[in-house]
Amino acid sequence: MAAKKEEEKFPFEIGPMYEGERIREKDMFVELAGPKSFGFELVQVVSANEVEDGKATVMGPDIKDMKEGGRYPYAMVYKVAGKDLEKDLEAVIERRQHELQGYIQGYMHLNQRYDIWIRISKDAVKKGLTSLAQISKATMKLFKSELPFIEKMEAIYITDEAEVRKRKEDAMKVYTARDERARGLHDEDVDTFYGCTLCQSFAPTNVCIVTPDRVSLCGAMTWFDTRASAKVDPEGPNFAIPKGTCIDAVGGEYSGINERAVQLSGGAFSRVKLHSFFEYPHTSCGCFEVIGFYIPELNGLGFVDRGYTEITPNGLPFSTMAAQTGGGKQTYGFLGIGIGYFRSPKFLQADGGFKKVVWLPKKLKERIKDGIPQDLYDKIATEENATDLASLKKFLEEKSHPVVATWKKEEKAEELPVEVEAEASSAAQSLMSMPVGAMGAAGGGGIRIILKNAKVKIDKVIVKKS
Ligand code: SF4
Repeated sequence: MAAKKEEEKFPFEIGPMYEGERIREKDMFVELAGPKSFGFELVQVVSANEVEDGKATVMGPDIKDMKEGGRYPYAMVYKVAGKDLEKDLEAVIERRQHELQGYIQGYMHLNQRYDIWIRISKDAVKKGLTSLAQISKATMKLFKSELPFIEKMEAIYITDEAEVRKRKEDAMKVYTARDERARGLHDEDVDTFYGCTLCQSFAPTNVCIVTPDRVSLCGAMTWFDTRASAKVDPEGPNFAIPKGTCIDAVGGEYSGINERAVQLSGGAFSRVKLHSFFEYPHTSCGCFEVIGFYIPELNGLGFVDRGYTEITPNGLPFSTMAAQTGGGKQTYGFLGIGIGYFRSPKFLQADGGFKKVVWLPKKLKERIKDGIPQDLYDKIATEENATDLASLKKFLEEKSHPVVATWKKEEKAEELPVEVEAEASSAAQSLMSMPVGAMGAAGGGGIRIILKNAKVKIDKVIVKKS
């Protein structure tokens, strides 16, 4: 990958060995976009005469003008042309930027679309990185060598605050249009789903399955996008998965997915249910836009997006839960999803869909308003209604949220004698995987552990007062 010529030309090395490089705050020269500022990345397919091949424009303060330790808005816009290029490939090229910019030494690229988060290291600046044009030229070379169907490419990088803000509004319309295109199509209408293993570089067992009713967890790839990618780049990270036999229509289990999942995860898991939180859930790499978390005390699901940095009612912020959720495993109790999945008619239908959702950050709730059934909208709490389990429990009772009816059933079930005979069920695993600090708070003290059909072997337990 790392062409010798490129290494000589740029003041940084380029190659897959830098993929996954993390730049800590103390080592960063500047931060671009990210949670404390804003930005986006956008690829647009245009006709050949609209692209000046290789041209790199920087609008706003460049690296040499930036203050060390500063944070700046940031947009990366590319115009691409090529006879085999079609609109569906815009999202695919855009998503590959995460991988390819990761090859640049001293430059950290995280997330996608409107969530991008970039850091440039002090070392890179010391070695001669003075302009974002150096980054964009290196990126364009990487794109053209990796995706030969891009014949012409031009980059416009923007740090001017007003310009980023204005262009971001237009970019949001483009993302929305892409997502809406997939909404008229459903899992039962197609014979083929698509897979993505792009994130296996840091989550080696993760296999994303993208279907008409389940957008990728990074939110960047719809079924149409992955289909276009698999067609134009058959050796790339996207590939077709024939559905095979439907094993569970509600949970979304198909023999074709199970076969590919075993093969591509290296045997880490053998079954996947696309629309289930508790049984054989989809894996999560680390790029999820939103984390879902089970709240055992309330038998409900909370969801938190990257933009919400406060503590959620289970006592944890997004960043802490991200460590539990990611890594490419089937994690019971946590699930990474893309924002578009909230609008799917099959959204977690195996668990009751929105009837199970008890908490969302206010901004996220407003953003997905059109996906939430009208009769449930006011029954789902936000940070304005509840900030801990006790206040959330009170809110749900006052609003007669559907999960409240399940509490009574749970209480009855507790009176039954415990049968300890089977292997741990996935529900038990989900309870066991919940952080201890999150358990028992709704009851106002103490810890309540419910084990159903569980087989537990413990050599020693030490409980200390904190
Ligand atoms: S999160 Fe999934 S769909 Fe998105 S780039 Fe990574 S592997 Fe592909």
